[in-house]
Amino acid sequence: MPDSGGGALQAEILSIGTELLLGEIVDTNAQYVSSRLRDIGVNVYRRVTVGDNPERLLSAFQDSIGRSDIVIATGGLGPTDDDVTARCLASALGRGLCFDEDAWNSMRQSYLRRGRTLDEGSLSARKQAFIVEGGFFIPNPVGTAPGQGIMVDGKLILLLPGPPSEMRPMFENHAIPLITKSFSSLTPIYCVNLNIVGLGESQVAEALADLLGGSNPTVAPYADSGQVRLRIAAQSADKNEALSRISGVEKEVRRRLGHHVYGKNEETLEMAIGRLLARRGLTLAVAESVTGGLICHRITGVPGSSKYFKMGMVAYHPEVKISTLGLPPGVVHREGSVNEEVASGMAESVRLLAGATLGLATTGFAGPDGGTCNEPVGAVYMGLSHKKAGTITEKAIFSGSRDRIKVFAAQRALYLLYHFLIEPGKNRG
Ligand code: ATP
Repeated sequence: MPDSGGGALQAEILSIGTELLLGEIVDTNAQYVSSRLRDIGVNVYRRVTVGDNPERLLSAFQDSIGRSDIVIATGGLGPTDDDVTARCLASALGRGLCFDEDAWNSMRQSYLRRGRTLDEGSLSARKQAFIVEGGFFIPNPVGTAPGQGIMVDGKLILLLPGPPSEMRPMFENHAIPLITKSFSSLTPIYCVNLNIVGLGESQVAEALADLLGGSNPTVAPYADSGQVRLRIAAQSADKNEALSRISGVEKEVRRRLGHHVYGKNEETLEMAIGRLLARRGLTLAVAESVTGGLICHRITGVPGSSKYFKMGMVAYHPEVKISTLGLPPGVVHREGSVNEEVASGMAESVRLLAGATLGLATTGFAGPDGGTCNEPVGAVYMGLSHKKAGTITEKAIFSGSRDRIKVFAAQRALYLLYHFLIEPGKNRG
């Protein structure tokens, strides 16, 4: 069984496609492969992107194979002339390409699954069934282009198709088992992400300074659209041992950061809010101006939200704020509707209109134009009204593009609501 001779196993990802270099598509394959390799304990040392150019691809393969134990390439396996991946790998290894009957058969099956017949004489179709001498083919359960792999001098090289919907199942079902079987010394990495709201990345780093220096588990915060994610990762051959290391640190983080940790892994802030609303039998109505429906979109993205979400509206034009929400014209026309009274009035009115326990509202300037002498672009007021506790407002100023300001404003308004649900009596720190 080949291995890396005691040193850390090095992997490299080769993303192939001119459209990647032109910035026309985002390289989600490399991100996916990196994170899955990390999960099984393989360190990715480099990611290389190269266009559909045979000379440059040949030299990229030579370099990658020269310095890494595992090379995963995606893209360029299709039938067209610019799909040159297999040919370039063959040249880099000084080998030929052989027609593979099993690969051809699997292509026939793929065509049949789609109710089509493979043209047996088509040269462009047959091209996809050629694999590097000494290699093996990898079936494609979704599309038609097969993948392939080869083990040379203890190094594993895998070629997978570009479309993520095809690449991912092939990576899961074939690449991962092949890698774990081929390299015996792999120590898996387990990780948990804690989702944190209401604190900036530097505040989190400061509160957890001593934990960030650890090596097993490692603890690392990173900012993510108005919130912070904290990754806790432990490496061990014994899964229970890794999980118990993680859980020790997780407990300590939760103790220090309290309600700021709203969830774990894929749990979103709106899911945490939904859980709290449902548990307490509370209902919600939302009136949005600057966020243009983003809050309602997020709330209704949670399965079961109809239990607590009563109504949402985008009250954008000043006249609608007056006619539908009944706000006084003098208040609406002050500072272009971006003021505290508009936020509190919208929150209160929408709550009453819907007969909900809680009303949430936003008003602000998303830019790039607009703003007044007193309220710059990026100024956002949020209002939260509760049947008994009354109405609170908060002002924030965000920067950046129109989209960014909207996203951050929606996130902050949801945090206002979350915080109220966690600690109704307290002002936010
Ligand atoms: P096909 O038979 O579909 O042509 P292929 O292996 O030749 O398969 P490419 O032609 O390189 O794949 O890419 C096909 C499509 O897959 C691209 O247009 C793009 O949408 C997607 N794709 C390719 N590479 C990546 C990548 N690294 N990340 C995300 N998407 C990708």
